[in-house]
Amino acid sequence: MSIRTVGILGGGQLARMLALSGYPLGLEAVILEPAPDACAAPVARHIKARYDDIQAMETLCDTSDVITWEFENVPDKSAHFLASRKKVYPPPAALAVSQDRFSEKTLFTRLGIAVPAFHTVDSREDLVNGLEKTGFPAVLKTRRMGYDGKGQAVIRNEEDIDRSLQLTGTHSCILEDFVPFTREISIIAARSNSGETVFYPLSENTHRDGILRYARCTFNDPRQKEAESMIRRILNELSYTGVLALELFDTPGGLLANEMAPRVHNSGHWTIEGSVTSQFENHMRAVAGLPLGSTAARGPVAMLNCIGAMPDREQVLAIEGAHYHDYGKKPRVGRKVGHITVCAAHDAELAERLEAIRRLLPDS
Ligand code: AMP
Repeated sequence: MSIRTVGILGGGQLARMLALSGYPLGLEAVILEPAPDACAAPVARHIKARYDDIQAMETLCDTSDVITWEFENVPDKSAHFLASRKKVYPPPAALAVSQDRFSEKTLFTRLGIAVPAFHTVDSREDLVNGLEKTGFPAVLKTRRMGYDGKGQAVIRNEEDIDRSLQLTGTHSCILEDFVPFTREISIIAARSNSGETVFYPLSENTHRDGILRYARCTFNDPRQKEAESMIRRILNELSYTGVLALELFDTPGGLLANEMAPRVHNSGHWTIEGSVTSQFENHMRAVAGLPLGSTAARGPVAMLNCIGAMPDREQVLAIEGAHYHDYGKKPRVGRKVGHITVCAAHDAELAERLEAIRRLLPDS
């Protein structure tokens, strides 16, 4: 069957960029999203309802040839309901893994993918026992629903113990070794139904206050093959279809996996202008059963997130090589409202252009 309509659970900026990348391929998007002012609403048909509304999910199934999602915290009930009626990509098993940091790290370990040492924590006693193994500092994270650094705390000494338990609340947690990484990187890959797999060049990422600020495409990174081997094992294990991202810590002893995202990823937004085929287009191609496109980078490229508010459009666009992405969201402290991609002919030019853009960003 020739796929024409892709249903997307969620209607944020990722759904918007997926929908936009689908149109030239003859693919229309339908989003299921409760927010009336969803970012993707101007570019997709909008079913306004909760993610677990049965009637709305039925409508989504009736109007879509295939279904995907833009966030990993899809309710279990919804994933099962949708999968029982329609082809759903990536496979719901990927959701179950990525929704729980313990399942995720257990899977990685089983596949021979190195991770920071981790221990489950369900009580103060577990935490104290865990800290005896990790020592200080260590990182306590809620097993579920943590994102952008929320639901986690660094424990540097005895006094931090109770404060960290307050932060994580009553949730089940994992305690991890604090990794003194040299840099944070991510690998993004796309896999088709038939097992064809393509990898983007590694992205080197900078976070502040737990939020991604800056992502840069690397060239011939010495860790590229190691990262590809890690993500390939996950893709094959899950018989995955679509785009998968894996966040990694680079250390002198090798890469350690932090977490995976079974979806398009913020650290790959530079692929829209910076790659032959963007992560969004490759995800749409994969779920629609179309051949995957080249992931090659066109040249030096990087992305800056706009947090809180957008910079002035005219000033940004006056900078050669700059591409403005406004998600149409209301400004709010700490909110991702857009991003700017910068392309250049060589590294020095890229650095110069980035500096000019940083000066225009309201939060930098
Ligand atoms: P996460 O929510 O797991 O992606 O963590 C958010 C950020 O916290 C990461 O991007 C790292 O900068 C930092 N972080 C998370 N886990 C660790 C760790 N075990 N050691 C050091 N830093 C960490």
